[in-house]
Amino acid sequence: MRPIIAITGDQVHEVSPMINMNNADMAPNEIKRAVTLAGGLPIVLPVSEDSPAVTAELATQYVTLFDALIVPGGFDVDPTLYGEEPIPECGPTLRPKDLFEEALIKATVKSGKPIFAICRGIQIVNVALGGTLYQDLATQDLDATIKHAQEARGDLPTHHVSFTPDSELSNIFDAKAYVNSRHHQAVRKVAPSLHVTATAPDGVIEGIESNNNDQIVGVQWHPENMYRDSQPNYDLFVNLVERAENFAARN
Ligand code: MN
Repeated sequence: MRPIIAITGDQVHEVSPMINMNNADMAPNEIKRAVTLAGGLPIVLPVSEDSPAVTAELATQYVTLFDALIVPGGFDVDPTLYGEEPIPECGPTLRPKDLFEEALIKATVKSGKPIFAICRGIQIVNVALGGTLYQDLATQDLDATIKHAQEARGDLPTHHVSFTPDSELSNIFDAKAYVNSRHHQAVRKVAPSLHVTATAPDGVIEGIESNNNDQIVGVQWHPENMYRDSQPNYDLFVNLVERAENFAARN
């Protein structure tokens, strides 16, 4: 039996004013294909727009349905979730999705089940666990001198990242990788239960993992648009399936 890999869904009617090639790439289709090729059974979780209490209840029960969670790319994270008002450069947000994913991430962390976070995913995971974000790298991080919101086709690599030795990511990628980059927000203050395992040459955080275990692995780029031509980006999905199988075998 394939392990069940849940992916949080997007609300397409909310996305439609923004649809362009990059946003089309952010739809979970490529994630579903990568999960299936890597040996998992993908399912998509609908975003709850219910009260906080019901959302938390739904999140707790959803966790019983899957073996691992993928938190995919998407809109900017509502800055009020980390105690800031939005600056003018903050992009479109979708608060119901933020609140649903926050509840789901907390419930999944509590369960011990593995998480793989992609782009916005590592940002909302970091916020859900107590970290903060740059709302806009260009205006808030003066050291961020690399173009992170690439205008090249979304599946093409545009900047390098380097990895911390002895991390899950370095086991998959070795020391360095050349990745795509479709973000203008990034992790700022890292949540206490996470640590940085990948950075761009300008210091922007490109990968995070949970402390003292392999429960959470997150990347700031989009491996779902690179896995066809890049073995390590494919191996990120294999790694998640293996972590899901290992967790299921232990419990
Ligand atoms: Mn980047």
